[in-house]
Amino acid sequence: MSMLLPPFELHEPTTIEEAVRLKEKLPEADFVAGGTDLLPNYKWGLNTRKHVISLHRVDEMRGVSAERIGANVTLTEIEKSGLLAQKLPVLPETARQIATPLLRNSGTLGGNLMLENRCFFFNQTYLWRKSVDFCLKADGAQCHVVPQKETCYATFSADMPAPLIALGASIELASARGTRHVKLAEFYQGDGIQRNVRRPDELVTGVTIPKEAQRLRATYRKLRLRDSFDFPELGIAAAARFEHGKLAALHLVANALETTPRVLDSLGEGLLGKPLTDEAIAQVAKAAEDAVRPVKNTNLPPSYRKAMTRVYVQRALTDLRAHA
Ligand SMILES: Cc1cc2nc3c(=O)[nH]c(=O)nc-3n(C[C@H](O)[C@H](O)[C@H](O)COP(=O)(O)OP(=O)(O)OC[C@H]3O[C@@H](n4cnc5c(N)ncnc54)[C@H](O)[C@@H]3O)c2cc1C
Ligand code: SF4
Repeated sequence: MSMLLPPFELHEPTTIEEAVRLKEKLPEADFVAGGTDLLPNYKWGLNTRKHVISLHRVDEMRGVSAERIGANVTLTEIEKSGLLAQKLPVLPETARQIATPLLRNSGTLGGNLMLENRCFFFNQTYLWRKSVDFCLKADGAQCHVVPQKETCYATFSADMPAPLIALGASIELASARGTRHVKLAEFYQGDGIQRNVRRPDELVTGVTIPKEAQRLRATYRKLRLRDSFDFPELGIAAAARFEHGKLAALHLVANALETTPRVLDSLGEGLLGKPLTDEAIAQVAKAAEDAVRPVKNTNLPPSYRKAMTRVYVQRALTDLRAHA
């Protein structure tokens, strides 16, 4: 098994309609957009398929507005969008913290929303994985992180979903049966293999963002090994609205610690209608730290990522309050 790209047949539809018909006809096919995640995984023999449907030519999936972003929009386009900088600045702020400029030129929003979960035992070459008898997520029968045979704990590693969840966004899914919208806060569910409730025949065509999101002040804080390059070891998305010095809404998401982003809005419920004091912030930050359950399958130790959850929530909320 080499590290060359394995052979597959590439299909290049030009419309959403054509793409979903192809997927219906070839249920085993993978979609590919920028290829910055799928192609490295294929080179390492991770769940490769014989047919790949490229979305590159589907122009209907481009286009940015403050209420809808197409799945084919690149991370660079989000980063550089003057409209988003003005209306939803947390989205360019987040895109800027993903991978490198070159990868952001190719990487798309759709690919980011559907990014494969990551694990030290999964993102390895075929021979490396063979030497440990593979694992549940590809070719094997057990998990090496939490030894058992049912559940994969691979870490959710995409950055864009967390701030989009905090803004109340929904994902748009198309299939030959029609289009549906699912709140992103409910979309991500399941273990490190399942990850979300997308049905196998569905194509992600974009995200929609409610108009009210433009009234929230939001931020995304990311912890990673090398700031110019790496996947998140922890991400905190927070969005708040203040009215007359009092907290009127708070959305909080802890990212990249578990198999899906963790929505922590309930931690702020008792604080609504009151000024956001230092004590209130400390209380939410501690509760967030207590809630999250990272496992040992990324670079930094789980205990550190858990401890930093408190620090990052504290910093994010202090920052939102300062700019209220
Ligand atoms: C060195 C390196 C560093 C990186 N750092 C980060 C990081 O810090 N944060 C981060 O979030 N990501 C990071 N990435 C991952 C990746 O570059 C981005 O997540 C990017 O947005 C993926 O988009 P893509 O279009 O290239 O996806 P692709 O590789 O084309 O696809 C990714 C997955 O999504 C599926 N898919 C793509 N589009 C659709 C669609 N429209 N509908 C249904 N399924 C679809 C594919 O089948 C595939 O499973 C990094 C990658 C590398 C190589
Ligand atoms: S968490 Fe376990 S099953 Fe999942 S990728 Fe890692 S080793 Fe494999």
